[in-house]
Amino acid sequence: MNDFTWTLTQLRRFKELGVDLQNTPADFSTQAERDKLFQQIEKKHVKADREKLSDFLIQGEKSHMESLMKKLAQALFQQGFTQVTTPTIITKAALAKMTVDADHPLFRQVYWINKKQCLRPMLAPNLYSLMVDFSRLRHRPIRFFEMGSCFRKESDGARHNSEFTMLNLVEMGLAQENRLARLKELATIIAKTAGLNDFKFETENSKVYGSTLDVVAGPGSIEVASGAMGPHPLDIPWGITDTWVGVGFGIERLLMTSMGDTSIGKWGKSLSYFNGIRL
Ligand code: ATP
Ligand code: MG
Repeated sequence: MNDFTWTLTQLRRFKELGVDLQNTPADFSTQAERDKLFQQIEKKHVKADREKLSDFLIQGEKSHMESLMKKLAQALFQQGFTQVTTPTIITKAALAKMTVDADHPLFRQVYWINKKQCLRPMLAPNLYSLMVDFSRLRHRPIRFFEMGSCFRKESDGARHNSEFTMLNLVEMGLAQENRLARLKELATIIAKTAGLNDFKFETENSKVYGSTLDVVAGPGSIEVASGAMGPHPLDIPWGITDTWVGVGFGIERLLMTSMGDTSIGKWGKSLSYFNGIRL
């Protein structure tokens, strides 16, 4: 055993650069020897990243995130879903209608822009509002989804961003007995389209829905989605009586798990990383 191991700063830098240390010595007899190898590895990776970034800009492509969102939308169009876009700013009243009021744990995570308005912490309030309007139509099932930014004050940085992207789909007016199978089918379509093969379903306690069917992925069992079914007690204030299934996926969590990463930093909206490359 030698006396010198990587410093925390060096390890952090390796992580930023996505360096795999498996075949690299972990300890050194002198500090100079360690720092020399650090510089060599850093230089090699920075150069490779620059080339990747340059290739990417020259070719003019979609980022991983944009192309994943496009693929997911395409997969849902094939299932007969319609894409909607709703406001990012929502009202305190809409949140309260989801039982998210001052006593609710999620309430503390909300970014308020004034006394009555906030940045949406989830898509559900807007989608509920559309469910009310769409349920007046005669045909069933009614299928729609949104992909858009949501905002939450979070303390755990490894799996959370304060601004993240949710894909939330809803299918209304299906046979009661088919709900669970359909929910799993739709969640499977999304997970597989995102390139996840290693995922499973788990029943979880939810702050908003009471109980959810979650999709967890990879060896770290990272939650990538939560799904729910109606009729549900939350439907009552909205006056919704239809059956429904719905599921919300975190796009960044899908990206991170499909890339085999266990931290979200590189995959979210960022000015420090672009397309997983450290800037
Ligand atoms: P967690 O328990 O991991 O904090 P959650 O159960 O509070 O997540 P949901 O309200 O179920 O999250 O949101 C649906 C999905 O949105 C989650 O499964 C996750 O993929 C994603 N998500 C939620 N919060 C964040 C966040 N802060 N950053 C990135 N993705 C998130
Ligand atoms: Mg959840």
